[in-house]
Amino acid sequence: MTPSRAPLIEVFHSVQGEGRFLGEPMAFVRVATCPLRCRYCDTPDSWVATADFAVHGDGERAATHRERNPVTAARAVELALGCAARSPWRVTGFARVSITGGEPLVFPRFVREFGEALGARGAVHLETSAHDAQALAECLPALSHVSADWKLPETLESGDWTAQHRACVELVAADGRATLDVKIVLMRGVAQGSLSTALDALAPFKDALLLVLQPVTPARGVAERIDAGELARCAAMAGERGFRYRVLAQLHPLLGLR
Ligand code: SF4
Repeated sequence: MTPSRAPLIEVFHSVQGEGRFLGEPMAFVRVATCPLRCRYCDTPDSWVATADFAVHGDGERAATHRERNPVTAARAVELALGCAARSPWRVTGFARVSITGGEPLVFPRFVREFGEALGARGAVHLETSAHDAQALAECLPALSHVSADWKLPETLESGDWTAQHRACVELVAADGRATLDVKIVLMRGVAQGSLSTALDALAPFKDALLLVLQPVTPARGVAERIDAGELARCAAMAGERGFRYRVLAQLHPLLGLR
C-alpha cells in the first residue's frame, strides 16, 4: 500500500502544555487543516496547508529548517525523534510524541502509520477536536493517549459537534487501551450555558476519563478570561456529578514556550 502523507505545520520538542501530562517532555507533530472554527483558536495558521513546514532543531541542525508538504509518517517520525534528541527538554530512551493540529483526524491513516513507524521507541498521544469517530477508530490502535476536546457550542463560531464528541468518547472508553482526557475549554457564560448539558452527556463515561477543565486563554474572538467565581461553579458542577477532574490552564502561553 502507498504510504499515506499529511501536510504539517511544524515539528518541535518541548513540554506538554495541557492535560494530565502537563510539563512532561514531548515532541509535537502539528498537522495542517481543521474543519472546526473555535472562537478562541490561537492557531488559525493551521487551517490551511502550506507548501512546506517548519522543523525546529532536528538532530542534524540546531536551527529551524523547512521541509516540503505533504510528508510520510515515517519521515515525520524521523523528524520528531531528531527534535527530541537535540531538545533541552529531552529524556533518553523513550519519546512521547503528540500528534496535534490543526486537526489530525483529517488524516487518520497518517496517524496510524506514525504509530506503527514509531513502534517501541515511544508513545503516540493524539490531541483532537474529536469530530470524527470513524477516523478515530482507524488510528486508535496506534495510540497510547487521547486528549479529546468537547467543544461547548458557545465557544464555536458556528455548528454543534456534540454528537460527534460523544461518539468519539464512547469509542475510546469502550476500547479501553488508551488513556483518555476530555478537555472542555471554559469561557464566560458557560456555567449558565451548555456546560451542564455537556457534563450530563459525558456522565456515562466518567469512570473511563479524566475531565480537564481549561479556562480559556484569550485569543482572536475571545477578549476575556473566565472569572474565578464562575470557574469554581464549573468545577462544582463536575464534582457534583462524580467526575475526576483537574482545572488546568495552558502552560505554554504562561511560560512563553513553543
Ligand atoms: S479545533 Fe483547534 S485548530 Fe481547529 S479551530 Fe479549534 S482550536 Fe483551532
